Amino acid sequence: MADVLWFNGRFTTTDEPVLTVEDRGLLFGDAIYEVLKFTGRAPILARAHWARLGRSLEMLEIPNPWTAAAFAAVLEGILARTEFEDGIIYLQVSRGCGTRSHAWPEGMTPVAFAYSSRFRFPDEAMRTGGVTIVTMPESRWARCEIKSVNLLPNAISKTAARRAGAHEALYVDGGNVVEGSSSNLFVVLDGEIVTHEKGSGLLPGTVRDAVIGLAGEAGLAVHERAPLLADLDRASEIFLTSTTSSVLPVASVDGRRVGNGTRGPVAERLQKAFGALEVKEADDWSSGLRL
Ligand code: PMP
Repeated sequence: MADVLWFNGRFTTTDEPVLTVEDRGLLFGDAIYEVLKFTGRAPILARAHWARLGRSLEMLEIPNPWTAAAFAAVLEGILARTEFEDGIIYLQVSRGCGTRSHAWPEGMTPVAFAYSSRFRFPDEAMRTGGVTIVTMPESRWARCEIKSVNLLPNAISKTAARRAGAHEALYVDGGNVVEGSSSNLFVVLDGEIVTHEKGSGLLPGTVRDAVIGLAGEAGLAVHERAPLLADLDRASEIFLTSTTSSVLPVASVDGRRVGNGTRGPVAERLQKAFGALEVKEADDWSSGLRL
């Protein structure tokens, strides 16, 4: 059965498909949430949840859609319409909806919803007998090779880069340079190309792989190993790759010029080769070639 839903100022039920595909909560995980327990239609620790909600929103620079009184009224309204006495209220506030871009535009209107739902709390057997647990390595969120929509860190980095007047943020891990917030990185050292090896630390870009192949065909040496931060200073060229930017030369890093501060010969050659590859890909598809 459908549950009671409050969505952006009105009551409805969870049957109504209220979210749209360009919601940043959906596309980037750019949203915060709370889960409150209620018993006898009364929320538990409501003040603590309200306080944490406010802190989370503040840290993400998402405007709070509620005053304390308005938030209380939403909880009241949901509980008054809910048919069961005990359960949970799940609520979420996303930064808003808009054209997909890692860096968020200023002044978005938040999208907020809250709904009640039944919940099976630990029963007496669990509460007296206890439960089993297993250990595992801390890995939140350390699986960058998965192209997951868990992109909030990337969105924060890209926004910070844009605010600093830069096009892209480059991740450095220890002394190693990994990748950009939405692109892979290539460094040209002594005429040879270096890019981070695949692994859980970076997204294996489709353009990255294609460019490595094209470089090989062009007789350029490619080494898949982590570039060092210090390598950036002695690189003759640095470039980024991604689906939407193809091969994009880097003119400066942290305000320091790369090479002569403009596109170098390796990037130019790979731009040409990748452009030709795009033409071939499009032609192949148009002539009926499929996956
Ligand atoms: N790294 C990250 C973190 C990305 O999000 C992307 C995709 N924009 C890339 C690299 C590049 O991947 P692709 O070449 O497949 O676009």
